[in-house]
Amino acid sequence: MANVILKDVFKNYGKLEVVHGINLNVAHKEFVVLVGPSGCGKSTALRMIAGLEDITAGTIEIGDRVVNDVAPKDRDAAMVFQNYALYPHMNVYKNMSFGLKLRKMPKDEIEKRVREAADILELEDYLFRKPHELSGGQRQRVAMGRAIVRRPAVYLFDEPLSNLDAKLRTQMRLEIKLLHHNVQNTIIYVTHDQVEAMTLADRIVVMRDGYIEQVGSPIEIFQHPANAFVAGFIGSPP
Ligand code: ADP
Ligand code: MG
Repeated sequence: MANVILKDVFKNYGKLEVVHGINLNVAHKEFVVLVGPSGCGKSTALRMIAGLEDITAGTIEIGDRVVNDVAPKDRDAAMVFQNYALYPHMNVYKNMSFGLKLRKMPKDEIEKRVREAADILELEDYLFRKPHELSGGQRQRVAMGRAIVRRPAVYLFDEPLSNLDAKLRTQMRLEIKLLHHNVQNTIIYVTHDQVEAMTLADRIVVMRDGYIEQVGSPIEIFQHPANAFVAGFIGSPP
């Protein structure tokens, strides 16, 4: 099972509290989108789930295991970053296999996983190119490939499409939908784009200033926003 549970999770940076005790249950295989204005704590929430930030108080469970003290690489979750975070001097194959090598996976298993990810992402013909020889969309696919090869139970996406132009964003949205269908895993996806949230999510989590304002399906939130902020942010029915 690949559910994710946040219980009363707080985050302080120094004396400043930026996440104020959030509670969230993400079901196995669910596609949950965190939305909210810039600075509301979306990335912080995601990074705490990934283990890239300590939590100040509370509990995070992944797959029915408390992970508060588990290192990022030992959590069954892989993050895809907004800026791709590719290694510029490594080709696509090496970018995708690097994390598995660190985990001391056998070479043939690594190759199998990289080929499989390249197949899902249509990157077969680009495996031996370097990032600067790829388009923005292809680089984003490599970033996703790096997560896919880990076969994580949970994918964490932090605004993965915000550096792409509008046309490519629409195309990649479809690809991410397809990825969810193909890998059948849990996805927690951060965006500040309402359209992206409405089209991708099984459920949307609306955040503001370190609080969760509302959780619901896109249609529930659109038709019954909990308050004026949610209505204003998502858009309310006419
Ligand atoms: P979002 O992803 O929704 O734009 P963030 O999670 O990045 O928001 O930031 C939430 C709040 O925490 C913001 O006020 C931001 O300035 C602050 N913050 C984020 N990272 C740090 C950090 N490393 N040190 C201090 N403050 C931070
Ligand atoms: Mg952010």
